[in-house]
Amino acid sequence: MLRRMKGRVQRFLERPATVDLAHYDKLLKSIEWRESRLEKLSDAELTAAAAELRRDSEDAAFGESDLVELCALGREAARRALSERPFDVQLIGTMELLSGHVVQMATGEGKTLAGALAAAGYALQGSQVHVMTVNDYLAHRDAEWMRPVYELLGVTVGWVSQTSTREERRAAYAADVTYGSVSEIGFDVLRDRLCTTVDEMVQREPEVVLIDEADSVLVDEAKVPLVMAGSTADSQADPEVAKIVRVLQPGTHYQRDEDGRNAWLTERGAQVVERALGGIDLYSGEHSDRLAAVNAALHAHALLERDIDYIVRDGKVHLINTSRGRVALLQRWPDGLQAAVEAKERLAPTESGEVLDSITVQGLVGRYPRVCGMTGTAEAVAEQLREFYQLKVAVIPPNTPCIREDEPDRIYATEEAKEAAILAEVVATHATGRPILIGTLDVAESERLAGKLAEAGVPCVVLNAKNDAQEAAIVAEAGSFGSVTVSTQMAGRGTDIRLGGKDSAEHDKVAELGGLYVIGTGHYPSSRLDDQLRGRAGRQGDPGGSVFFASLADELVVQYAPDATAGSEPDSDGRLTDATSLRYIQHAQRVAEGVHLEIHRNTWRYTRLIEHQRGVLLEHRDELMRTDLAATELAALCGDRWTELAETIDEDVLTEAARVIMLYHLDRCWTEHLAFLSDVRETIHLRALARETPIDEFHRAAIPAFRKIPDEIAERSAETFRAATITDDGVDLADAGLVRPTSTWTYMVHDNPFDTDAEQALQRVRAMLKKVRSRRR
Ligand code: ADP
Ligand code: MG
Repeated sequence: MLRRMKGRVQRFLERPATVDLAHYDKLLKSIEWRESRLEKLSDAELTAAAAELRRDSEDAAFGESDLVELCALGREAARRALSERPFDVQLIGTMELLSGHVVQMATGEGKTLAGALAAAGYALQGSQVHVMTVNDYLAHRDAEWMRPVYELLGVTVGWVSQTSTREERRAAYAADVTYGSVSEIGFDVLRDRLCTTVDEMVQREPEVVLIDEADSVLVDEAKVPLVMAGSTADSQADPEVAKIVRVLQPGTHYQRDEDGRNAWLTERGAQVVERALGGIDLYSGEHSDRLAAVNAALHAHALLERDIDYIVRDGKVHLINTSRGRVALLQRWPDGLQAAVEAKERLAPTESGEVLDSITVQGLVGRYPRVCGMTGTAEAVAEQLREFYQLKVAVIPPNTPCIREDEPDRIYATEEAKEAAILAEVVATHATGRPILIGTLDVAESERLAGKLAEAGVPCVVLNAKNDAQEAAIVAEAGSFGSVTVSTQMAGRGTDIRLGGKDSAEHDKVAELGGLYVIGTGHYPSSRLDDQLRGRAGRQGDPGGSVFFASLADELVVQYAPDATAGSEPDSDGRLTDATSLRYIQHAQRVAEGVHLEIHRNTWRYTRLIEHQRGVLLEHRDELMRTDLAATELAALCGDRWTELAETIDEDVLTEAARVIMLYHLDRCWTEHLAFLSDVRETIHLRALARETPIDEFHRAAIPAFRKIPDEIAERSAETFRAATITDDGVDLADAGLVRPTSTWTYMVHDNPFDTDAEQALQRVRAMLKKVRSRRR
């Protein structure tokens, strides 16, 4: 067994980005050698033995003997808690994870357990571990499934999901190991950003992250931004207010200062407005949001002139940069002013709230000093993992060799012929009772196919990644006798498909029929995704089979190999068997892979700078929150005011007031900076047309803007500090205009702003492949 594995390992070594697995032989022997001793321990003794390994800080990483001890204890704990003795390959996986690699282990090899032992190892080394899953269901399932193993090792575990309360989150993150979906952990990072004291936060400092389905997270979803948006009471313009202000006359109702930078209502003007608003007292404090709206509207009305300060084009307000006499694409007005101008021009508001903060999945992962991951399909993205994350891939052979039969593509001239062939194949196979799993490209296709199958008298279940928990239960039965399951890529992920049903009752009967039969109704945009589907069959040495149907009219081919033509006439069923057709199909997939990589690269070039700036600012924020820096700064900036207040007011109260003021302005500046950057991005493509390099332009705009932020924070904070009402109760936030968002919400943006580069990326990839081809000739 071991020798066969060594042969495999040797071959893997020759591939790029894989790591040396050969030296595990010795460690595995030592682990096995300890087994008989550990078997005799009581549970309490086992836990005590694990406690011996525990370190206080991550400085002291495990040496080889600690690693051996951890694996031996982990194996024993799993044997007791789950009645599963981890295989050698699983322990190699554990050790590779502890070395900070992305481990490739096929579907069904038991990554959940291998990962849990690694997480326990990191925890015993004194680190706090986040295990990221692809959805809430898996976070909950895996944490609870592995809990008894963790308990025997004396490691605490928790999990978060969308419905967790703040208290539950705080408790979950306080555990040694916390399971959570990528988005939930990410949203908690964003929400913690709004806290003004350390106690309010739910997460601790990021230390170690272990990512399940690592290729999905690190490559497929890497560029997806997680966004936190918020609405403030005064961020929306009131059309009613705009209407009232529109009739006000200069001199009579309002006055302007000489350089046209400020405007204010006269007595008479205020009376007019107050009456129109139903006789309220604008200045009473209770109507401060109305007053802010009136001020913004007055600014828009009295100080900003259409076609001089801004133009209206395509239903949007564009600022004019007066010094250059052209439309200043990169600027926007602060706060409610943009909305006020839109209301003045009777335009639809461009935003109902504003983005308070945002982070990409890649940026989220980048926060952790130590990263490792596991997946069935890492090798195909080894280069990307190295380029974007400096991560190495460790390919680990299966415990039992895979005997799944992967048939070559069946290619058809038209989609109709392809669909007819798929139906015929399903009907014929189903007649034998062999279970079939059909992978489609989208929900619509799943529904259509299910309809056709029903007409043909084949009942099937359809999964479309709408309810993870429910679908997990269905997929678990996809290997039972006679079952036909139609599923999209995302549905039922992470669920084990056993032959003969969840309880394996009819395992042998189904195995005799050839095991699970996987049918792909078309290629995915990457061969890696194809492999994920194939990998559903043939788990742990089971028999199984897979085949992909494709046609020259498939969207993938039409989009990425538009000049594809068959090399021969189709047969009477519309099938093509020539080599040319196959080459076109493979070519289309390679182009698609290249385009996605280009887009990822491009997005990363932009977001890297933003993530970096975010990190720098957050470090400063953290210091403000944890130290008395704000007090020191404000005391220096407004010495007189500070001294005056210090004679009345308690020092601690004053320090706290300074902190709250500076944090507020820091957050404001960041939100405004993000809005600015998003405007820059929106317009960057216009600049590309003007033959400027977009990324350089982006940096030219973003870097100086960011450099100004520290001064801006100091200036605004000093101004607030001088004017604010500060008593023994602290600073009056509402009165000082420091209104934090009244509500926040989070979402993931799936259409990436940079995807507009897709066409360019496509052309670049095509040109590159052409060059490679001509060089070969
Ligand atoms: P993966 O995530 O690698 O696809 P899972 O962690 O979901 O795989 O595990 C697949 C199945 O293998 C589970 O049913 C699990 O109980 C089982 N399993 C894992 N490790 C072992 C083991 N050492 N011995 C027996 N069964 C195991
Ligand atoms: Mg899994």
